[in-house]
This record gives sequence, C-alpha cells and structure tokens, in this order.
Amino acid sequence: MKFDPNCIFCKIADKKIDTIIIYEDDDVMAFLDTNPVSYGHCLVISKEHYDSFLSTPKDIMNKVMNVAQRIGQVDITSLGAKGVNILTNCYEAAGQSVKHFHVHVIPRYDTTDGLQISMKDMSEEKLNLPTIAKEITKGM
Ligand code: 5GP
Ligand code: ZN
Repeated sequence: MKFDPNCIFCKIADKKIDTIIIYEDDDVMAFLDTNPVSYGHCLVISKEHYDSFLSTPKDIMNKVMNVAQRIGQVDITSLGAKGVNILTNCYEAAGQSVKHFHVHVIPRYDTTDGLQISMKDMSEEKLNLPTIAKEITKGM
C-alpha cells in the first residue's frame, strides 16, 4: 500500500493522529473535518495514498464514492440536512490543500452555513462551445 510519511491523511489512515472516525473498512476511511463549514462536514478518503481523484484507481474511487453517497443519505435522514454537497478538489488551482484523494461530504441547512459556491456565467465571453467540446472529446 502506497504511504507518504509526510502526508497528513496517510497518518490519519494509519491512526497516528487523533481523529473522529465515522466509518472505516480495508480501503476507505471517513472522519469529521477539523475545520467544518457546516454541522456534520466530513471527509471520505482512500486509505492508500493517491494525489487526487484524478489519479485514483477506479475500484478505489468507487468504494470512496459509495461511502460518500451513504453518508450523504444519512445527513438527510439523521442530521436533518436539507441538502448535501459532495465535492473533491483536484490540484491547488481548484483549492486542494491536502494532496491525498478525499471527498468532502457537506450537509447543507440554510444560507447561513459556511459554504458558498458561485458559478459565474461566462457566456458573454463568447466562448466557442463546439470547439471546446471537440478539444475535450479528442483527449478522451
Ligand atoms: P482540501 O482543501 O484539500 O479539499 O480539503 C482539505 C480538508 O482537510 C480541509 O477542509 C481541512 O479542514 C481538512 N483537514 C486538514 N488537516 C486535517 C486534519 O489533521 N484532520 C482533519 N480531521 N481534517 C483536516
Ligand atoms: Zn497520503
């Protein structure tokens, strides 16, 4: 199993750091975020070290996402959340600060919780959508 001794989440997976664990099995661990943006904000990680979602093998990624989905369901039924954001940041430009694959499960209650996501409409920039689509399709 890949382990990075300088990685905080590897240390958490190895139980070297005090953490409030919600769930664990051989491949996956879920625990509360120490800087929660809402009541119940937790992180789901692969126990093995992968830099981000983008480099995680599909079988492990699926196991992590299954746990994230279950916790999201429980946030609704047990915590009384009105919604849930499931998100994973890939690389610094997207806000990733810990370079070990993790998925945020963020229960949402109302507009006063600590998460704000805004998507600015860039359509006025006259982006060439067919060209963009071709570029992506070609790379797949
Ligand atoms: P990122 O910005 O990489 O997507 O999110 C990393 C998350 O990990 C942050 O929300 C941060 O609060 C959380 N975090 C960082 N260090 C620790 C830690 O030692 N323990 C726990 N439970 N969460 C951590
Ligand atoms: Zn790691």
